[in-house]
Order: sequence, then structure tokens, then C-alpha cells
Amino acid sequence: MPDNVIKARHADHRCDVLLIGGGPAGSTAAALLAEKGHQVTLLEKARHPRFHIGESLLPANLPLLERLGVSAEVKGIGMEKWGAEFVSPWHDHSQSFEFADAWDKSVPHAYQVRRSEFDEILIHNARRKGAPVIEDCRACDVRFLPNDEVAIVRAEHRDGRSETWQCRFLIDASGRDTFLGNRFRAKHRNPKHNSSSIYGHFDGAKRHDGKKEGHITIFWFEHGWFWFIPLADGITSVGAVIWPYCLKARKKPVKAFFLDLIAMCPALAERLTDAELVSDVGATGNFSYACDRTHGTNWLLLGDAYAFIDPVFSSGVMLAMNSAFAGADAVDTCLRQPDMAAQALKEFDRIMKHGPKEFSWFIYRVTNPTMRNLFMAPRNVFRVKEALLSILAGDIFGKTPIWRSVLAFKVIYYFASLANLKPTIMAWHQRKVNIRYVEDTEEIDCQ
Ligand SMILES: Cc1cc2nc3c(=O)[nH]c(=O)nc-3n(C[C@H](O)[C@H](O)[C@H](O)COP(=O)(O)OP(=O)(O)OC[C@H]3O[C@@H](n4cnc5c(N)ncnc54)[C@H](O)[C@@H]3O)c2cc1C
Repeated sequence: MPDNVIKARHADHRCDVLLIGGGPAGSTAAALLAEKGHQVTLLEKARHPRFHIGESLLPANLPLLERLGVSAEVKGIGMEKWGAEFVSPWHDHSQSFEFADAWDKSVPHAYQVRRSEFDEILIHNARRKGAPVIEDCRACDVRFLPNDEVAIVRAEHRDGRSETWQCRFLIDASGRDTFLGNRFRAKHRNPKHNSSSIYGHFDGAKRHDGKKEGHITIFWFEHGWFWFIPLADGITSVGAVIWPYCLKARKKPVKAFFLDLIAMCPALAERLTDAELVSDVGATGNFSYACDRTHGTNWLLLGDAYAFIDPVFSSGVMLAMNSAFAGADAVDTCLRQPDMAAQALKEFDRIMKHGPKEFSWFIYRVTNPTMRNLFMAPRNVFRVKEALLSILAGDIFGKTPIWRSVLAFKVIYYFASLANLKPTIMAWHQRKVNIRYVEDTEEIDCQ
């Protein structure tokens, strides 16, 4: 820890809990901790509303929004999402799933949202609940004092001013910036997965009618898969998730490369025939990682600041918000009942690891032909389709008894792989090549 950076003996400000990052994780935790009566301060390096990728929510988000008291506001900006559609060039039909067919039928839809609007609702909520929110203020350095009694964070305002905050507990919700993960050298590339993404917004994309209008569509193609996310204002978010070497090997500017990729996926190109690209094209790479710990004595990591695997199941925002609920409970216990702290942090650790673990098994296999076949021809033996839909809905933290059926699905997958041995082995070999690390794709020049 670079403790020579913060030299001041006394910080400029004091609070019980300092949060770094005002995305879904940080804003949720700030609101909850303020409600529990703690003195909370949230630092956000940007100013809301700001663009963020990650626009498709899961049904499991809805109870969390309800508990935060922002359901009506999110309904006001959201496109209702009743299910998901999978389109494969290797199959002669598309396959739609509706969340109403999941094991627990009580939350049959989610929302597609513009993250600028969604994240603004959440950060306003934190402010409303009593958490001072300081935007345009980037946390730069941290120092933990002996015995882990307090942490001091130095942050810089956009106008160049520098200030320090002393807190009893530090929460890192800085997303893929991984503020503490970097400082502790705790962040590690995922050896089992790697991908990159390139995305933009279109006006005039062809949508389905009726209830299917808000479905997310996943289009598989030769180099990975695309998302098609219809937003409430008529704009559609389209993004490709491709292997990093593929992005690195591009010979054209990012926008031309993106349009070329779309042309390689005829089913998607057809839905964009009359559509116009109305945004800049963004790109990001090598985004699969996890930190080797979730917490210390007086700090913890939330959401992407702990781990991010892959966006294929639209799980990121739900995992981030869920981690915030778990984190707020743990911090509350640490501050009020220090003798229970170890137990509370252990439970927090369990919850943090559960999501990435359960989604990873599917993520690692979703571009495998055997898995594709199972997705494209789902059957409900041993209620495996209902259980799969519960995973797609993000219903993995509650009491819904899906786990025996999830296990049955995995067994069916392994048997199907044996029956389909040659293509499965070839696909695994190809995957090893595909996920290899490629330098310099984190920050892509999008000009
Ligand atoms: C290509 C792609 C597509 C995705 N699609 C989806 C999807 O469809 N659905 C979904 O649920 N998820 C999706 N995700 C994942 C989702 O975007 C994230 O999981 C989610 O935003 C995590 O929330 P968070 O609060 O942890 O981090 P973030 O939302 O990233 O928020 C972190 C905040 O911290 C701030 N910050 C960073 N560093 C500092 C600092 N030093 N000081 C102060 N502030 C700081 C940032 O400005 C930011 O506002 C996608 C991700 C990618 C890469």
C-alpha cells in the first residue's frame, strides 16, 4: 500500500462509511447505509447522467428496486422485457424464452434501460436517503492506518482541488476501474474466459410486435455473439461480444469494423436494414477478471470492483445491486456489533462468490455447439427448462429450489457432449485459442 502518498495527520472530512463509485453498486449501498443511520459519503468521478454500457436488467432486479423505493421511477424510463430470444445461424429456427415460465412465476418481467437514466435514479435516491454525493471527484489514493481502525482516502475534484476523507469503513464500488483491487494487486485475469466488446445505438431497428418487443435477442455468429436491446425511446442498443484477438486484428477504424461484423450476422443485419447508427461506437476488451478477496477488516468490494465475467446473461447490474444489499448488511454489523463482524463478512464473502460461480458455468459453455443445441431445443425433463429460466432471470440468491434441476441440466449437457464428442472437443480446443490474452485491448481507440 503506498502510504507515503497521504501524509496529512488529520483528514479534511470524516464519515462512518466512504463509498468510491456511484454506479448501481455504490448508489444502492449508500442509500441502504444512510437509511440504517450511518454517516455516509459517496465519491463519483463522473457527473450523472453519464453513459454506461449494460442496459438489460433481469427480473431479479425488480425486488431490489422495490426495496430501494425506486420501482415507479425505473418503470417510467424502462422498456418492459418479458423474455429473451436466441438466434443461431446453425439452426433453422429462433428460440424464445419467457420469464413467466421460470420456476418462480411471480416476477415475469424486467426492464431494458438507458444506464444514464437508470444510474441517475439510483444516485439521486442515495442523496434523497441522506448520503452526501460528491460528483466529479475521483478517489486517487488510500491509506489504512495501523490496526485497520480507519482508512484515509485522497480524492481530486475536476477543478484540481484535492481533499481527504477519513472513514471507519471503506467500500470500493468503482466498477471495472477496480480501485482497491489494483492497489492490493488482488485483481487477476480470468484464466478460463476472455472476451471483448464493441457497441453502438441504432434508430429504426426492426422490433418484434406485442409483448416480444422488449425481448433481448442474442444472435450467435462465427466470432461470438451480438446483443439487441430495445430501449423505451425507440433506440436499440446493439453490441458484439467477440474474442479479443478478433478485435485486435481489425484493420479498419472501430466504426467500420463494427458495421463489417454486423454484416457477418445476416439475421441481425436484416433487423437493422433501415436503421441508422446514431451514437459513437464504443469498445472495451479483456474484461473477464476477479479479485482474490472480497473484503478486509474495514473495507469491502462490491459489483464489478470485485469481479466481472461476461455480459451474456445480463447479470452485471443485478449482481452489483445484490452485492450492495449484502455489503450494507455486513458493514452495518461491523460498525454496530464488532464481535459479529467476522461472521457477517464471511456471509458477505459467500454471497459475492455465489453469483460469478453459478453464471460462469453457463458463460464458459454458451458458445459451445452442445450448449447451443440445448438452448435451441429446450425440454422440461426434471424441470430443467424452468430452472434454466430461473438462472436467466437471475433468481439464484433466494429460496427457489432450482439446484437439483440445474444439476440435472449439467448432467444432460455432459451426456450430450459425450454423444457429440468430436464437435465438442474441437470446440473446446478452439475456445482455448479464442480466449488467449491479447495485450492493449482494454482501452480501444474508437476514432
Ligand atoms: C460490453 C458490456 C455489456 C454489458 N451488458 C450488460 C447488460 O446488458 N446487463 C447488465 O446487467 N450488465 C451488463 N454489463 C455489466 C454492467 O455494466 C456492470 O456489471 C455494472 O455496471 C456494474 O455496476 P457497478 O456499480 O459495480 O460498476 P459501474 O456501473 O461501472 O459503476 C462504477 C462507478 O464508479 C465510478 N468510479 C470509478 N473509479 C472511480 C474513482 N477512482 N473515484 C470515484 N468514482 C469512480 C465510475 O465513474 C462509475 O460511475 C455489461 C458490461 C459490459 C462490459
